[in-house]
Amino acid sequence: MGYSFTEDENEADLIILNTCAVRESAEDRVFGIVGSMKKLKEKKPSLIIGIAGCMTAQEHIAEKIKKSYPQVDLVLGTSAINALPELLLDCLKGAGFAADISEYDDFSAAAEQVRDSSFKASVPIMFGCNNFCTYCIVPYVRGRERSRDAQDIISEVKELVCSGYKEIMLLGQNVNSYGKDLGGGMSFPQLLRELNKIEGDFVIRFMSSHPKDASHELIDTIFECDRVAKHLHLPVQSGSSDVLKRMNRNYSAEKYLDIVDYIYSKDPDFSLTTDLIVGFPDESDEDFEATLDIIKRVKYDNIYSFIYSKRSGTKAAEMPDPISDEVKGLRMRRLLEVQREISTEHYKRFIGRTMRVLVDDKAKKKPGFLTGKSNEFIIVEFEGDASLIGRFVDVEITGAMNWAVTGKLKTG
Ligand code: SAM
Ligand code: SF4
Repeated sequence: MGYSFTEDENEADLIILNTCAVRESAEDRVFGIVGSMKKLKEKKPSLIIGIAGCMTAQEHIAEKIKKSYPQVDLVLGTSAINALPELLLDCLKGAGFAADISEYDDFSAAAEQVRDSSFKASVPIMFGCNNFCTYCIVPYVRGRERSRDAQDIISEVKELVCSGYKEIMLLGQNVNSYGKDLGGGMSFPQLLRELNKIEGDFVIRFMSSHPKDASHELIDTIFECDRVAKHLHLPVQSGSSDVLKRMNRNYSAEKYLDIVDYIYSKDPDFSLTTDLIVGFPDESDEDFEATLDIIKRVKYDNIYSFIYSKRSGTKAAEMPDPISDEVKGLRMRRLLEVQREISTEHYKRFIGRTMRVLVDDKAKKKPGFLTGKSNEFIIVEFEGDASLIGRFVDVEITGAMNWAVTGKLKTG
């Protein structure tokens, strides 16, 4: 429609906030930002402000925006991206508040992207989620699982690799149930094997994998396919089987450890990362200790941990939650402390080895140094020239910190 990008919000004719609804803190931040945009709108009444993304898929939020934030002109539902030009046109014609939060089956536009990296590309392979973990809003705001056609994904990845992309990140809420809705289509391990056949120098990553669907076939495929990274993000959420049951995760701590043991039986140094929720309703001291036990047992290279956030409309929001915020905060600090020790110790296994690294950027606050990600998804810091950004290099690892390993660039 003739719009182009600007970095300066004072210059903008159109501002669209893309929102997340997973935790309440993200929503609060959006309301804060929208509140502060009132001044921009006063200065420039022709400015159009829009809100898109998961927040808008909650009816009470869409209502709140309409009622309490008159500076917002348009609201766009998660699957209504195709409707944006028409809504914009309505706004430009002065039709007032325009909204489309209907659910659409055609998600082709959602798969199209303006890419801001010339060497790393994310490729959505499925949308939505069927799992209904009791704490999670995603199934309510993104709808049921819909997989993209396998040939479309393969063609897209071929094009990306041809244009020089080095890292392909396949995305979905639960990638290992990819294809189940296609009726006789390709499974996720089959898709990985097909993508692995593409000629070129690139690495395939994927996220997230639900442990209940992390089959031996998937793990065998990771080991068989040389372009697939030797790393698995396997969100455990809690080490307590009791909490996992109340979370409706459909696996126990023991079952989860069986998967981990299978992976480590193939490669004891394999890299695992996870998501954890601290302070799920009524999480006891013993439950929390079980979470500490599981992170010590698995030895994750990295964890992404979140304090439980109550999401209205989910089952967990109805559960009694007698644990104070203070206790939850203390547990979070303890978890991070334990993980920091684990990471530093565990990263030492790479010292003396050579890692293949895709160079990401200049190191912040360390002139002359670069950072990149190893095949195992570990951050690697080393001295080198910025011309290496976007390329694969070999780095000999010499040290380990709690967030990265350090090393020396190998030349020749
Ligand atoms: N589908 C992925 C899975 O099941 O692993 C994760 C997607 S979810 C958007 C990302 C992470 O956010 C989850 O793994 C969970 O740890 C966290 N999360 C989801 N709902 C949450 C809530 N209500 N409070 C705190 N963390 C939450
Ligand atoms: Fe949310 Fe992931 Fe559970 Fe789906 S599988 S409900 S996205 S945490």
